[in-house]
Amino acid sequence: MRADAALRVAGKGEAVDAAALMIEGVTKRFATADGPIVALEHVSFSVRQGEFLTLIGPSGCGKSTLFNIVGGLLGGYDGRVLVDGRAIAGSHRAIGMVFQEESTFPWRTTLDNVAFPLETAGVGKAERHARARELIKLVGLDGFENRYPAEMSGGMRQRTAIARTLAFEPRILLMDEPFAALDEQTRLLLGDKLLQIQQALRQTTLLITHNIAEAVQLSDRVVVMTFRPGRVKRIVEIDLPRPRTSEIVSSAAFGQYVASIWNDLREEASQGLSESEAAPLRRPSHH
Ligand code: ADP
Ligand code: MG
Repeated sequence: MRADAALRVAGKGEAVDAAALMIEGVTKRFATADGPIVALEHVSFSVRQGEFLTLIGPSGCGKSTLFNIVGGLLGGYDGRVLVDGRAIAGSHRAIGMVFQEESTFPWRTTLDNVAFPLETAGVGKAERHARARELIKLVGLDGFENRYPAEMSGGMRQRTAIARTLAFEPRILLMDEPFAALDEQTRLLLGDKLLQIQQALRQTTLLITHNIAEAVQLSDRVVVMTFRPGRVKRIVEIDLPRPRTSEIVSSAAFGQYVASIWNDLREEASQGLSESEAAPLRRPSHH
């Protein structure tokens, strides 16, 4: 069915591997008490079907703003977002989101958290539980179906949230710093898990992270953004063999990618730092 969709889009003489998602000249301004700010400026890139693409950039460069636009949570921008070649407005059923902050329901078990989207879609109990169990297995939480979020670690709760988003069967998965609150080892292991999931489902995946190693480990391409206004600074193709596991982080090629992206980011990050040092008394920004 995915192949069909790609072919349909390719019908007008375009390449067969039509982009699953296109961001075209997106500019977003916010009015703040300190005056208008340009959060994103002419951001354009496209994401291939089944691609794993990571967005990296200093804090405040507009990464979450871009995801919120793509996910339909934020309007009032210039430019266009296209799914399968069609401009979208507002939320789109092909797109699922996973956030940084806790989003599991504390009063529901793992099974009922993951089954929640199916429940709201009116899927019967036996079927939704069967499907939820498959997803729970996919994220490596089998055996924990009847646990409540409070009885599990942060990493396990985040996997529950990912499985729940997968239950919507999104063709495009957006993850905004899903591992930010986790320790380094858990991050690496969850990164492996994400790669396994993506290989199993062939989902188009967009990830936001601050972590350069994580970006290189997981991605086909990394989009490096500039500090305010957020623009695309460079798109780095990560030409490392797949399937990948966290073991790849010790290879020389891996280290070179990390160093080169860090080079790009250092400039942007120091600009962000000097700006925040220059204005220490300004009220904290909105996230
Ligand atoms: P990132 O996710 O890259 O850290 P954000 O997308 O959260 O950055 O924010 C980009 C910029 O836009 C920041 O300067 C932030 O303060 C500002 N911003 C984000 N959301 C709002 C909002 N609702 N109102 C005003 N300013 C906002
Ligand atoms: Mg953010």
